[in-house]
Amino acid sequence: MNRTPSQFKILASENVADPRLRRTFHSATHHALGQRAQSVQLVPEWEDLRERAHRIKEEAIEHLDLHLERLEASVIQRGGRVFWARDASEAAGYVVDLCRRLGASTVVKSKSMAAEEIGLTDALEASGVEPVETDLGEFIIQLAGETPSHIIAPALHMTRQQIGGLFQEKFGIPYTDVPSELCAFARQRLRQEFLSARLGISGVNFAAADTGTIVVVENEGNARLCTSLPRVHLAIMGLEKVIPRFSDLPLFLRLLARSSTGQRQTSYVSMISGPRREGEWDGPEEFHLILLDNGRSDILADPRVRRSLYCIRCGACLNTCPIYQRVGGHSYGSVYSGPIGAVLTPLFQGLEAAQDLPYASSLCGSCSNICPVKIDLHHQLLWLREKLVARGSTPWRERLAMTLYAAGMKDPALYRMGSALLRLLLKVAGKSGRSLAIPGWSSTRDFPALAETSFKQWWKENRNQGEEP
Ligand code: SF4
Repeated sequence: MNRTPSQFKILASENVADPRLRRTFHSATHHALGQRAQSVQLVPEWEDLRERAHRIKEEAIEHLDLHLERLEASVIQRGGRVFWARDASEAAGYVVDLCRRLGASTVVKSKSMAAEEIGLTDALEASGVEPVETDLGEFIIQLAGETPSHIIAPALHMTRQQIGGLFQEKFGIPYTDVPSELCAFARQRLRQEFLSARLGISGVNFAAADTGTIVVVENEGNARLCTSLPRVHLAIMGLEKVIPRFSDLPLFLRLLARSSTGQRQTSYVSMISGPRREGEWDGPEEFHLILLDNGRSDILADPRVRRSLYCIRCGACLNTCPIYQRVGGHSYGSVYSGPIGAVLTPLFQGLEAAQDLPYASSLCGSCSNICPVKIDLHHQLLWLREKLVARGSTPWRERLAMTLYAAGMKDPALYRMGSALLRLLLKVAGKSGRSLAIPGWSSTRDFPALAETSFKQWWKENRNQGEEP
């Protein structure tokens, strides 16, 4: 199903009304939060680590051009090839051309949000190349014809019973919903694909500018197979994944693992520095790195949202967000969901195309508090709202209400007059002391009844009687 960010309200309403989905998201996000909390508790210096990571990301993003050029030089020096892609079509076009040159009819792919972002699977299929997703979650959603519903757990929205049914339907195997049996089946099926594919595609978690090392973290071992078995390895990364030094890596690995899954360390950390060299026994013959811009330079140009580029895609802000927990990832109509998706999607796709997403937040600040690189997500959402208001993109009724509210709040006399008039109108209409029906608001929550007397009035009448309010 092709969902777009402009459908947020419709999709969110549908998903909120689905009790199974609500239960699934509630239990998965709370489990992840519990794991994270236990793990973080064991690191007394956690806040210092966050602060250090924030500073390193700041250094990387503030001097992004220099670090990227250094990364490019390091990769080339180690025998790799670098392609700068301005947008999705340039990046996808490069991969398709590479497949043609290699005569690859099948490629194996590990999980990559950048590849999702550019619609690589569709581009490959359109050119006659079969992309095989090898991450278990991605494998499942590819089978289901779905899109990811979480940055690190793409099939979070599905139960094991649904997955069992899907495997039975697509592969004709006896039904099972035992996770180890489903995993074993997928593993066996994918093994042959790894061995026969000419091209392996991976994402990048971090890229060290000084050594040209790209780092891929995962728990299944599929990314390591994708990057080492096929003849050619292609990695695709958003420009912001660069870190200045290889020595910065341990800090980020600690933060990422604990924030995303609560692990002390992810099971596999692959560090790749170019293709196989003379005398080496394994590894790909060619290594290609795509540096994807696709709107990141524009984000960089805006100092108020630039920090969104610090994101290391841990998914913790999704888990903790009360909106994400209820509406789920597909409601956002974008590969990036949750608070970071509500910031990035309007920046990547244009504010008008995703104008409901900055409002998909209670602004409680839980996302900013949990973020391992201290991105002030809720401030960025506010800033995007400010931009939308300045463009007049909000509904006229809301604009009118806010204009009246602002005028009343700035002028005590006007405030007194307005509230007295409202009380009078409610009295005349026989609605004093009753909850107000506000279109677009009261259908899902109450608007508190207006007190029959203002506090000021009450105080004037009662201040000398020693009564408690
Ligand atoms: S914004 Fe922060 S918490 Fe959210 S995914 Fe990115 S790094 Fe993790």
